Amino acid sequence: MYPNLFTTPGLANFAEAVDQERQRQLAKFGDQRHADGTGSKDQKQAAEAARNWCEDAFASGYGTWADILDEEVAEAKAEDDPAQLRAELVQIAAVCAAWVADLDTRIRPEAQPVRTAGGIVGYRSRDGRLLRCMQHAPGQSVLDSGDLTPVTSDDLPDGGVCTYPDCGRDVLSAALDDRLRRALETDPQ
Ligand SMILES: [Mg+2]
Ligand SMILES: [Zn+2]
Repeated sequence: MYPNLFTTPGLANFAEAVDQERQRQLAKFGDQRHADGTGSKDQKQAAEAARNWCEDAFASGYGTWADILDEEVAEAKAEDDPAQLRAELVQIAAVCAAWVADLDTRIRPEAQPVRTAGGIVGYRSRDGRLLRCMQHAPGQSVLDSGDLTPVTSDDLPDGGVCTYPDCGRDVLSAALDDRLRRALETDPQ
């Protein structure tokens, strides 16, 4: 749809959703002009605190998307220079895009029993060039579009490598790991 506009996976979906939301906002509020309300001493201190919080959270292995977004929002609110403020607002948008892309590529928990009951081990494009393991199952919009369709172990007797960036797992062993992990999670022992 946007062959050359976006290079980041999932960004076209995100941009389309933002465009729709902006249209909704414009219809409801019109073109908005407000004071920035940023750059106070308190807001600068809050940004420092949010940065430290986020750094500590990731250093201890418990960092979350919420921590990252809090930090970026706090940083934007600390800026009074318009160019710096603009740069920080773009960083917030980029974090939101990354978070949405992560949500969109996550297995939806409610869909798991159906997929495993059907023996689905992954998702493949029509031309066979794209393959996704269960962990990198496409989002609902991609499934609805039919660009990637479910495949079972019968479709892939020799397996295949997940083409999601930096994954590279064999979809058959990934599906087995996935089932084993879930069996262990549901087993009370
Ligand atoms: Mg920032
Ligand atoms: Zn994968």
